[in-house]
Amino acid sequence: MPSAETNGSNGTNGHAPTVQFFNVIDGKPRIAEEYHQVIDPRTEEPLWDAPIATAKDLDDAVVAANRAFKTWRKSTTAERQKAVHDVADVILKNVDILTEVQMRETGKSRLMSKFDVERAAWHFEYYRTVALEDELQYEDDTVRIIATHAPIGVLGAISPWNFPLILSTVKVVSALATGNCVIIKPSPFTPYSLLKFCELAQSVLPPGVFQAVNGGAELGELMTLHRDIHHISFTGTIAVGQRILRNCAGTLKKVILELAGNNACIVCDDADLDAVVPQVAIGALFHAGQVCVASKRIYVHESLYDRFLEKLVEESKKFAVDDDQSVTFGPLSNKANYERALGFIEDCKKNGYKIVTGGDVRPKEAKGFWIPPTIVAKPPDDALLVREEQFAPIVPVMSWTEEDDVIARANLDNAGLGASVYTPDLDRAQRIARQLESGTVWINQFERPHHAGFFGGWKLSGFGGELGKQGLLHYCHTQSLQIAK
Ligand code: NAD
Repeated sequence: MPSAETNGSNGTNGHAPTVQFFNVIDGKPRIAEEYHQVIDPRTEEPLWDAPIATAKDLDDAVVAANRAFKTWRKSTTAERQKAVHDVADVILKNVDILTEVQMRETGKSRLMSKFDVERAAWHFEYYRTVALEDELQYEDDTVRIIATHAPIGVLGAISPWNFPLILSTVKVVSALATGNCVIIKPSPFTPYSLLKFCELAQSVLPPGVFQAVNGGAELGELMTLHRDIHHISFTGTIAVGQRILRNCAGTLKKVILELAGNNACIVCDDADLDAVVPQVAIGALFHAGQVCVASKRIYVHESLYDRFLEKLVEESKKFAVDDDQSVTFGPLSNKANYERALGFIEDCKKNGYKIVTGGDVRPKEAKGFWIPPTIVAKPPDDALLVREEQFAPIVPVMSWTEEDDVIARANLDNAGLGASVYTPDLDRAQRIARQLESGTVWINQFERPHHAGFFGGWKLSGFGGELGKQGLLHYCHTQSLQIAK
C-alpha cells in the first residue's frame, strides 16, 4: 500500500504537500478513473486530486463488506475493543498528516484541525471500554427473557463537510464496535481526511470491514438504494435526510438521521455576562458558525439586552479574519455555503434589520470565502435569518421578557437538535431545558457533544442518534431470547 505521503502526480496548489488519495476497497487503495479537485477555502486555489468512485467500485465494496461481515460479526467484544483501540493508535500516529489535510480542505486553523483529529481518536478510545451487554428483562418460574444485541450487517455511512473526521469516525467506530462492517462516503467538499484515515486504518483491520468511497449525491443514492447495504447512518441537511428516508423505504433499511438544527440560546436575566458572553460567542462563531449545534438564534432577557449586545460585539472582534492565528474562526468551507451566507446578509439589508457589526465588508477582489462575525439586532421572529439555519457567522440576537414566551419562541422551529440556557439558577435552567423540544440542551456552556452523552435530534433534526452507550443501540438489532425453564 502506498504510504500516506507519496510523490504522486496529483495536482496541488504549490503550498499543500503532495499527498495521494484513493478510494479504499477490500483493504486496498484503488486507483480511480476520474478525479475532482476541492478548492482551498482560504485561497480559492485547487487542492489535491480526489478520486471519484464508480457504481462498480461501490458494488465491489459491498461484496467485500458482506464477505467480511461473515467473520467480523462473530468477533468477540474484546477483539472488537482491541481493534478500535488500534485504530485510535493509527490516528494518533498520523496526527500531523491528518491535521494538514483537514486544515486545507476545511479552512480551519492548524490548532483546531489537530483538535478534531485527536477527538476522532478519543471516539475510538471511548468505545474501547464501552459495549452493549446482554440484559435480563424478566424472569419467573417458567421463563427467562434476555435482550441481546446483534449487528445489522453492512452500514452505509454518509457524512457532511463541516467536521469531516469527527462526524465520520463516530459512525465508523459505532459500526465496528457493534460487529457491523462499514462503507463510508465523505462529502465531496471534504473528501481527503476520511479517505486518508481509511487508507491508514487498513493496517489494523481485516479487509472489507471498513471501506471508503468518494462521490456526491449520485453515489449516495446508490448506497441508500443498494439491496446489500443493510442500514444507513446519515448526517447532513433535512432535505437530503428526507430523500434518503424515502429511498430506504424500498428495502426497509434501518436509518439514523442526524440533521440540521436551528438552535436557540436563552440568556436569563440573572446571567453573569462576563462569564456568559464569551461562551455564547464561541457557541455562535466557532468554525464560522458551521456547526450543527451552534447557537443560531440568541434570545437575551430585555433587562440585559443592551449590555449583552455591546459585549458580544466586543467579543466577536477577537475572532480574527484572514489570520492564521485564529484558533476558532476561519472562512466558510466552500463556495456554495459562502454564497448562501451572503444571501442572509442581503436579506437583512433589504429588510432594514440592524447589522451591528460585520456584514459583507470584504473587498470583492479578496480571495477566500471569508465573512466576518456578523451580529444582527432584534430581527423579527419571521426573518429569514431566524427561521432558517444560517450555517455561517451571522447571528440574530432577539430579546424576551416572559419565560413561557421565550420557550414557545425557541420551540417554534421545526428542527430540534440542540439548545442552550444560561442562568446560575440550576433549577430554573432545568425547568426551561426540559420544556425545550431539543435532543440536547447545554446549560451554562456552549454547545459541544460529548462522546459519553447520547446525541440525536428531535422533530426535523432527525431520529436514531449516536454517541454514548445508548448510541450503539441504533447500530444493532435487539434480539429477545425467551428461554423456557
Ligand atoms: P448535505 O445534506 O448537503 O450532504 C451531506 C452528505 O449527503 C454529503 O456526503 C452528500 O454528498 C450526500 N448526499 C447529497 N445528496 C444525497 C442523496 N440524494 N442521497 C444520498 N446522499 C446524498 O449536507 P452538508 O451541506 O454536507 O452538511 C451541512 C448540514 O449538515 C447542515 O444542515 C448541518 O446542520 C448538518 N449537520 C448535522 C449534524 C448532526 O449531527 N445533526 C452534524 C453536522 C452537520
